Amino acid sequence: MDSVATEDRKIDRLPASVTILKGVGPRLAERLERLGIHTVQDLLFHLPLRYQDRTRVLPMGALRPGDEAVVQGEVQLAEVRHGRRPMLLVRVSDGTGSLTLRFFHFTAKQRDALTRGLRLRCYGEVRTGPATLEMIHPEYQPAAGDVAEPAERSLTPIYPTTEGLHQLTWRALTEQALARLLTAGTVEEWLPASWLRVKHWPTLAEALHYVHRPPPDAPLADLAAGRHVSQQRLAFEELLAHHLSLRRLRERVQHHRAPRIAPAGALREAFFASLPFALTGAQRRVVDEILVDLGRPHPMQRLVQGDVGSGKTVVAAAAVLAAVEAGHQAAVMAPTELLAEQHHRNFSTWLAPLGVAVTGLAGKLNSKSRAAALAGLADGKVRVAVGTHALFQQDVAFQGLGLVVIDEQHRFGVHQRLALWEKGQNHHGYPHQLIMTATPIPRTLAMAAYADLDCSLIDELPPGRQPVDTVVVPAVRREVIVERVRSACREGRQAYWVCPLIEESEALQCQAAVDTIATLRLALPEMRIALVHGRLKSGEKDAVMSAFTAGEVDLLVATTVIEVGVDVPNASLMVIDNAERLGLAQLHQLRGRVGRGSQHSACVLVYQPPLSRAGRARLGILRQTNDGFEIARKDLEIRGPGEVLGTRQSGLLALKIADLVRDQAMIPQVERAAAALLRDHPTHVGPLIRRWLGEAVQFGDV
Ligand code: ADP
Ligand code: MG
Repeated sequence: MDSVATEDRKIDRLPASVTILKGVGPRLAERLERLGIHTVQDLLFHLPLRYQDRTRVLPMGALRPGDEAVVQGEVQLAEVRHGRRPMLLVRVSDGTGSLTLRFFHFTAKQRDALTRGLRLRCYGEVRTGPATLEMIHPEYQPAAGDVAEPAERSLTPIYPTTEGLHQLTWRALTEQALARLLTAGTVEEWLPASWLRVKHWPTLAEALHYVHRPPPDAPLADLAAGRHVSQQRLAFEELLAHHLSLRRLRERVQHHRAPRIAPAGALREAFFASLPFALTGAQRRVVDEILVDLGRPHPMQRLVQGDVGSGKTVVAAAAVLAAVEAGHQAAVMAPTELLAEQHHRNFSTWLAPLGVAVTGLAGKLNSKSRAAALAGLADGKVRVAVGTHALFQQDVAFQGLGLVVIDEQHRFGVHQRLALWEKGQNHHGYPHQLIMTATPIPRTLAMAAYADLDCSLIDELPPGRQPVDTVVVPAVRREVIVERVRSACREGRQAYWVCPLIEESEALQCQAAVDTIATLRLALPEMRIALVHGRLKSGEKDAVMSAFTAGEVDLLVATTVIEVGVDVPNASLMVIDNAERLGLAQLHQLRGRVGRGSQHSACVLVYQPPLSRAGRARLGILRQTNDGFEIARKDLEIRGPGEVLGTRQSGLLALKIADLVRDQAMIPQVERAAAALLRDHPTHVGPLIRRWLGEAVQFGDV
């Protein structure tokens, strides 16, 4: 049995500073600090990226290209070859075979030292050379004794590093840190001993020692894959720390008051009745889940996941109307101006007939209309504001904000989101939050990434939707594509032609769109073609989008600004240039702009040959499936969760050792473990979070 009492008596001592280690002067300390390493503990949690096996000296005869190996032999020949630049070539042999060491840079001292007969021990990567196997710029040293003398006592860790910080420095530092592993104030064990026993896990000290200095017989393949029990134990602890930090965020939010919004519903019912369609079962279920949350006296924090086109906007509108009917205001925030303007149009069309005033706060309103909008929000005449994050600028004041809706949340980091939410505080408490995302992720992953949120899923598309036919076409067949556009538009349909990021430059992207529209206008003189990109003024963008929505434009040439949210059901053809350069999720989002009506839709993915294998695989996946979950799963395998969830920038879930895909099976256990730790060892929670996430992640005192 654990003794809870003794464990809890362990205080979270201030861990020893790295400056107590030998060789850490002010300069090195500052460098380490920039990497977030302040304490000896931080250093121990700076984990190796990979390992080299220098524990055995290999016979040269057994080397294969690609091996990283230690060899030992005698110099047979050393010569400087004078080509365009001089090169030092040293032939060494050990009786089983021979090897050439090739140096493009060398000093006179090196040249003079490497003479025939000298015994050398070398470490490097083996490659195929013109005549023999070679090592280019190997590490080497004169070898004293015989081959039996072990090279290294453990596998050699390779640490993530920055320029000017040598691997030898990392090894020297971690060596000293490991020597202090068992000294009080270095690292504390925060997992209960009973867990370790049940899972047959090493202690924290054992696990850290193992991953920093694996023994010569360690299973390299397991280590490389992160599947060794020591790594798994650390990964579990890391996932636990992240989970606990999200739970803590959630609890802090839950701690606050929010206005109780009764599920009255006259406005909502009037709204539903005004729609030309009935809600799907999934939409109705999610609306009900939201209404239950809104009826509680604490802030709702609900995430609605739903594939592209599943009808999230209507669900958001129902929530907005609930808040409005209860006498509160609502704010709807979108990640781009284009989407904010579209939402503004939609919400105005839907809500104005019900007597609910909506205002748009995207981009650069002229100062007069902005002042009017602000006055309306401040005195409460305006009930709903739709905009970008401009909504939360200093001068925007609400009379009584009861609900914040954030659309396409993967564009906003957790902390950004909470900061915005905090600004909504008023005498009723804090607003409810509804977050919507079209990046569906597997359930276990959602549990890890969104542990601070309740999740709802719209797992049904409106009836009559037909899957979008997807074809992959090389750019040389542009004529054929142009013909498709012509025939779609002749039938009264509309089309998009997307010119995505060619360079990491907005200006160049716009240029590509400008060039494309010029050629398309020549090829399709009878069509009404318009252009929209991020550099247009917001009024211009709005005008183009309204014209496209109204059917006054046949073909819309666009940059990826139309990626999220844009909804024009009559558009049935999507052409995406340079599709091989885009990620799966982005392509799925773009394709989701069509297939929104009941007519048959198509998506043409245009690529510039040659197509890489990965590129072919990616485009193939889109051809095979229209299912956002399936695509997200594949995307996760290809790009990893940081990219897919958009959490890389926000730093959340920037994991050191765990891998959300590889370690998915742990996640349900992590959730249970978190509950147990909070219940039985609450004092361990803070230090555990700090160990893995540092101080930065603790969201200010909410
Ligand atoms: P997303 O989930 O991608 O944000 P939208 O809210 O933009 O999807 O909805 C996509 C389209 O489907 C819109 O034109 C919307 O009016 C329509 N729609 C939403 N719900 C239904 C429904 N239950 N039946 C038919 N069409 C619907
Ligand atoms: Mg949407």
